[in-house]
Amino acid sequence: MSKIMKKTNKINYYKFPDKHGRFGKFGGRFVAETLMPLLLDVEKKYKEVRRSKKFKRELSYYFKNYIGRPSPLYFAKRISKEIGDVKVYFKRDELNHTGAHKINNCVGQVLLAKKMGKKRIVAETGAGQHGLATATVCALFNLKCVVYMGALDIKRQAPNVFKMKLLGAEIIPVKSGTSTLKDAMNEALRDWVSNVKDTFYVIGTVAGPHPYPMMVRDFQSIIGIEAKKQILKVEKRLPDYLVACIGGGSNALGLFYPFLNNEDVNIIGIEAGGKGINSKMHAASLSRGKPGFLHGNYTYLLQNEEGQITDAHSISAGLDYPGIGPEHSWLKETGRVNYFSATDKEALNAFKICSKLEGIIPALEPSHALSYLLKNSKKFKKNQIIIMNMCGRGDKDIFSISDSLGIKFRI
Ligand SMILES: *Cc1c(COP(=O)(O)O)cnc(C)c1O
Repeated sequence: MSKIMKKTNKINYYKFPDKHGRFGKFGGRFVAETLMPLLLDVEKKYKEVRRSKKFKRELSYYFKNYIGRPSPLYFAKRISKEIGDVKVYFKRDELNHTGAHKINNCVGQVLLAKKMGKKRIVAETGAGQHGLATATVCALFNLKCVVYMGALDIKRQAPNVFKMKLLGAEIIPVKSGTSTLKDAMNEALRDWVSNVKDTFYVIGTVAGPHPYPMMVRDFQSIIGIEAKKQILKVEKRLPDYLVACIGGGSNALGLFYPFLNNEDVNIIGIEAGGKGINSKMHAASLSRGKPGFLHGNYTYLLQNEEGQITDAHSISAGLDYPGIGPEHSWLKETGRVNYFSATDKEALNAFKICSKLEGIIPALEPSHALSYLLKNSKKFKKNQIIIMNMCGRGDKDIFSISDSLGIKFRI
């Protein structure tokens, strides 16, 4: 390919979304009329504050002193050896306060809500990690916090439900649909529309109607901004690969975004393959879904022949979402990011290996990303540098997987 052609074909990824919130044909803002003024208001205020020095200063104050950023970039020596002659670095967002990347976004959105004069925060949660992070930040800023959670998830995630209550949040069980995350998100949107004046809706991933996918991506991109600086400092060059797990896609996009225009960096997203992507029990929206509309945007979704959204399945509750952030749908279509999947079994295996080799008990979500590295060791060349997002710690998961690991566990 001639140089000139290459230049004209090149996409500047930082120009997206466009003013309609579109990433190519994905994304947008497909909502009821009642919701429109709220979204326009959030967009307007967000555009103001993202340029404000005062807001940036406040955000970095809480990133540093409350969350504990920057998170280290750690050379995982024994895992690297297990894979081959490569250098695997973990971006350690599992060391953040509350144990995952979710809080980066919560601090950002809640600071914005405060600037807008809102006194009440609503959020949806599946596994409870986003609910926990939101309840935490609401306690910090003395705001009322209401968390919508599927009735089934409340049963499955008792420790997080307990913590949220301790932090002063009100949990509202959602019994519609399948009583899980997608239904909780519908109810949270409904609450927002009926409490317009004092309420702000904090979405937990790069999904929902514009401006949420963009806003959440921006707040999470601190992960990639730090990682880029850190790798240049220790290795004096950019990595060959970035790898992250995908539920809605926020930790992945947080790491990927600052590298999107660096063409030589290979970027890989790992979806939850559940019991296998040829079974019906998985959460691989990009590998096995089709484009459609959910929660106000156009994106890849798990759906049946009639276009009904179907249930997602994963051993990891945090990856159990039938949709995916619209920017990922677009990055798949442009070919900038390659998406694969890992099964429950493969993730469990990586979970065990990481605990034993590195003394780091990972969450089940990033265990999916790690299992891709373990499985594809032959693909990597000598001395290649890989950054994997260790986006959460495994404390929350030990209750649900002790049986499948054959370790007796009682408290
Ligand atoms: C919520 C969660 C995820 C999935 O959400 P993304 O938006 O895809 O990042 C992944 N890992 C952990 C640890 C989580 O808590």
